[in-house]
Order: sequence, then C-alpha cells, then structure tokens
Amino acid sequence: MHRRHFLRSAGALAAAASSGALLAQTSTPTPSANALPGQLPFAPARPLAPIIARADRVVAVTVCTRPFRAQGPRIEAERIGRRTVVHQYGHGGSGWSLSWGSAQQAVRLALATGETEIAVIGCGAIGITTARVAQDAGLKVRIYAKETLPMSRSFMATGQWTPDSRICTAEHATPAFEALWTQMASASFQQYQRFLGLPGDPIEWRNSYVLSDVPFNQPAGGGGEDDEPDYAELESKLLHGIRPHGVPLDASQHPFPVPYASRYPGLIFNISAYAKMLMDDFLQAGGTFHAREFESPRQFADLREKTLINCTGYGARALLGDESVIPVRGQTARLLPQPEVDYGLYWRGHNLNVVPRRDGILVQAQQPGDYNNADTTIDRAVTDAAVAQLAKLFPAA
Ligand SMILES: Cc1cc2nc3c(=O)[nH]c(=O)nc-3n(C[C@H](O)[C@H](O)[C@H](O)COP(=O)(O)OP(=O)(O)OC[C@H]3O[C@@H](n4cnc5c(N)ncnc54)[C@H](O)[C@@H]3O)c2cc1C
Repeated sequence: MHRRHFLRSAGALAAAASSGALLAQTSTPTPSANALPGQLPFAPARPLAPIIARADRVVAVTVCTRPFRAQGPRIEAERIGRRTVVHQYGHGGSGWSLSWGSAQQAVRLALATGETEIAVIGCGAIGITTARVAQDAGLKVRIYAKETLPMSRSFMATGQWTPDSRICTAEHATPAFEALWTQMASASFQQYQRFLGLPGDPIEWRNSYVLSDVPFNQPAGGGGEDDEPDYAELESKLLHGIRPHGVPLDASQHPFPVPYASRYPGLIFNISAYAKMLMDDFLQAGGTFHAREFESPRQFADLREKTLINCTGYGARALLGDESVIPVRGQTARLLPQPEVDYGLYWRGHNLNVVPRRDGILVQAQQPGDYNNADTTIDRAVTDAAVAQLAKLFPAA
C-alpha cells in the first residue's frame, strides 16, 4: 500500500460530505434524527472494537519483494526459439489488484497463436489468475513453477485493492498506458464483486479510517517512502466513481485520539482463502501443476507446449536478465486474529497501515531504503515500532 492512496481518498471527502452521507459510528444518534416518516428508526451504530496492539501478539512477520518496472508491467509476446512467450510480469504493488484485467491482456496474446494447450510459468497472483482466465477461454493449461501460490511472494502481500500502487512512474503514464491500466483495473474490480459473500470471504468490503494530525490538505511527512520515485496516480484521475467516496468525520464520529479522521470503504483480499479458492478452481477446471525451476529461457524448449505465458514476477529479473524489474522491499506483520475488528486504519505521518484480515490484523510499515532493495531479512524492530504506534490509538485497550 502506498501513502499517496490515502491522500487521494482524503481528496474525495468534499464530494461525499456535500452528499450528506455522514454516518456516526461511535455517537448514538437519536431515533428521531434517523427515522424517515413512516419508517422504523435505524439501530444505533455499533462502537468500534479496539485492536489489542502488543508485540507479544505478533504471530507472523514476512518480507516480500514487489516487482516494479518504471514503465509498467511487461505484457507482450516474444519468439524464443520455437516457442511464443507472452511476458506478463512487473506489476509492482498492484499485482493482486490488476490480476484479472492483466490476465485478459496476456491471454488475448496467447489465443492469437492458435494453440489450445498452453503453459503458464509461475504460480503467484499473476500466474494463477492468468491460468484461470486461459481456462475460461477454453485453453488447457499446465502451470510450471518453482513454488505454488502459498509459497510465492504474492502470498505475503498486504491484501488491499490498490490498483495504482507502484505500477509505473509518473513520467511513464502515457495515454496508451493509461488506457491499458484502466482496462486492467476496471475488469479486475468487476471480477472482485463476483467473489463477495463466498465461503471463507476471499474478498470483502471493509471500512478504513484515515487518521491525521494535520488537515488532509497538508503534507503529513513520515511516510517512510520519501526516497522512492514519483509514481503515477491513476485511480483518482481515471477511475473516478468506481468505488464509494470517503467521508470526513468529526470528533464525535470516531474514537481515535487524533484531530482529523475520515472513513472510506475498501476492498480487501483475505489472501489465504482467496489463494485456496484460485488453486482449487484451477485444479477443478482440469489444470495441472508441475514443480519446475527454469535457469534460462532456453529451457522453455523442454516444454511440450508451444505457447507460454511467463508470469515469474520478480523472478523474471534473473531468468531473463531483465534489469528493468526493480525490487521494492515490503515488510508486514500479523497480530492474532480479532474477528470483532472489522475496520482498517491508516495513520498519516506515522507510517502505519492496518488491514483487518481474517488470518490476523495485518500491520504494515514502510522503511526508508525499501526501493531497489532485494534484501528479505526481517527487521523485527520495524514491526515492533509499528505495533507501538498502533497501541497509541487504543490507550484504554
Ligand atoms: C509488502 C507487499 C504488500 C503488497 N500489497 C499488495 C496489495 O495490498 N495489493 C496488491 O494488489 N498488490 C500488493 N502487492 C504487490 C503484489 O504482491 C505483487 O504485485 C504480486 O505478488 C506479483 O505477483 P506475481 O505473480 O507476478 O509474482 P510472484 O508472487 O513472485 O510469483 C512468481 C511465480 O513465478 C515463480 N518463478 C519465479 N522465477 C521462476 C523460475 N526461474 N522458474 C520457475 N518458476 C519461477 C515463483 O515460484 C512464483 O510461483 C504487495 C507487495 C508487497 C511486497
């Protein structure tokens, strides 16, 4: 997740406020204030359950590498020997968010070869989704990869719909890329609405609170990523209105000890349930998985399929010698699950992002030096600092 997303969310506040959509969460509205003539009054809003933020409740810390390309993901066909290889890698911090639309682009290129059996190389978010889209298009698919989805880098993502997070730099946001991105983001967003309400809740809508010590139109600093390039901000420009607006809250409408707060609904991915669903669907549709590590693209010649889709993510850098894939390190931690906590948090200027996943309360903090950093060593002190920041929001817990 990227700090600037929250700045944009805050920017949507004015429109929402003027629509009168404010809803108290912590104050108890009087029935007469809520009831329309002839209707029963709404029940008072539930108070927010406090998060128990203590270092001894951290059950997992992981570090993962985003496959960032300044020019955006590489989605194009190339002839390598006697194989057509459709490249499909480099989705930065948006791989989950763009996966369905991006898969449509790659599968279109694979279909153009006329082959009915294809290989997908890689089984992260991009590989498994590409395989599913190819199956739905009538293709027989074998996945060849070093690791299946639960062992891949994708499994360590935060789990938010952030379709323009580190997807390309501002200078590469050309009209052609913007059109491609709009297709990828919209198609993925629509697909995700179809996964709501399924067993295990692979995808859910959850409210998030954006908190700030200074007005939203002022910089808050301290985001931990000031040494990164200027990324393209596409959602606010191109997807206006695709998801509900955020709303500003006054002090009576939230319990947090900060002067400024807003609330907005966001899509979250419960990655363990969603990954299982994708793997099960792939196998049920007749797909097969073959454990295989490729050291060179020349080894693609060993495969029986003549058309391949290369979804190796950050692995493409070593496999193809493609140095346009830049590693952007990211560390997340999970606190013990609290099913009663159904909201996320982002505290501007305090380097804190919290997602209420079913497998635990995910706590994320950026670090200076994460950009162009392939080091996956866990820095526990960063997690403990983020948990300590979170605890400040719940002084009574
Ligand atoms: C901390 C963090 C938080 C994130 N949060 C979000 C988020 O909230 N929302 C979002 O949309 N995105 C998020 N992302 C980004 C997202 O995780 C990536 O864009 C996505 O995981 C990329 O998926 P992928 O399938 O391309 O790569 P990977 O998950 O790395 O999968 C690559 C696959 O290829 C295989 N492979 C690689 N090399 C070889 C080889 N040589 N031979 C055989 N197999 C090979 C691997 O085994 C694996 O199966 C986050 C990333 C990080 C680091």
